[in-house]
Amino acid sequence: MPELRLHQVKAMHQEHIAVNQVNLWLKAGEVGCLLGPSGCGKTTLLRTIAGLHALAEGEIQIDQQVVSSAKKMVPTEQREVGMVFQDYALYPHLNVEQNIAFGLHRHSRAQKEARVAQLLELVGLPAMAKRFPHQLSGGQQQRIALARALAPKPKILLMDEPFSGLDVELRESLAREVRGILKAEGMSALMVTHNQNEAFAMADSVGVLKEGRLLQWDTPYNLYHQPAHPFIADFIGQGSLITGSVCDCRAVHTELGLLKTQLPLGTQAGEAVSVLVRPDDILHDDRSDWKLEVVNRAFRGSHFLFTLKLPSGEKVMCMSQSHHDHPVGSKIGIKLEMDHAVVFTKEATLSQTL
Ligand code: ATP
Repeated sequence: MPELRLHQVKAMHQEHIAVNQVNLWLKAGEVGCLLGPSGCGKTTLLRTIAGLHALAEGEIQIDQQVVSSAKKMVPTEQREVGMVFQDYALYPHLNVEQNIAFGLHRHSRAQKEARVAQLLELVGLPAMAKRFPHQLSGGQQQRIALARALAPKPKILLMDEPFSGLDVELRESLAREVRGILKAEGMSALMVTHNQNEAFAMADSVGVLKEGRLLQWDTPYNLYHQPAHPFIADFIGQGSLITGSVCDCRAVHTELGLLKTQLPLGTQAGEAVSVLVRPDDILHDDRSDWKLEVVNRAFRGSHFLFTLKLPSGEKVMCMSQSHHDHPVGSKIGIKLEMDHAVVFTKEATLSQTL
């Protein structure tokens, strides 16, 4: 049974539709992430789930109870949701243990002490109980904010860009750490981010929003390997679209050869389609006779990302180990390692140019 279920959710800001026809669900103990560009409706959706924003249409259930519908709006404090925001929002005049214990109204003193000690242990800061927020680093403050939100054991934790105030290296490692903490607590959580690495480090399911619509709600693996929309193919990871021609329902002709695929419904033999090629589909191999010209290259430390030109002029990207330092204009050997091609109709591609 899902802990959180959204059915055809629509939310407005005055006349503006910020969230439209969103369906998603989270099972108990699962972590979900909402990804998308600025202004796509992530925060509005999270605030609607928290009961901080009215719902215009549809229904939201938490723990199988309807908490929001066009007719019903359960107040935030009765939804048993925990919230963690970007600015930590710790109480500056309370020390760490007082901050964590803040929401534990109905607990005895002994219960409070036990829960605070358990959470400090869980977030890896048992020695920080007496410190005040200004005596903690940003990452430590965010861990305490998480401990405070988890303390009353909410039904679900909602997090809005919780790591955005932190530096890049810390963000991803903290995201992984937070996932471990949530799993240890068996907590269902939904996090908003525009950072793909964070979403992938955290989530069991990731949703990509565009202009208020949820285009896909899926595992990180499927979002990368089976994007349902060209926008997602572009937004998640890198890639290029090359032209193909439908051979039959399981294969498409391209300049890279005949590729196995599952074609979109309704495509006809001979029809022109777009085929997604990821940099990891094309491997550099000095021994290969199949050579393409390097038209651009980016050094990424552990690897080079080469942009290569196909005979038609279309371009693909290729990843290679960083000691293969080939200049622009040279030709390098490649081999294809594509298990399954992702194909979009030309119509879908035109509505979202990569
Ligand atoms: P970001 O990543 O920049 O935080 P977001 O995906 O969280 O963006 P929202 O803040 O949910 O996006 O905004 C969704 C849409 O609603 C945007 O077009 C935004 O301009 C609009 N919007 C947000 N808040 C208001 C408001 N208070 N009044 C009017 N329009 C708003």
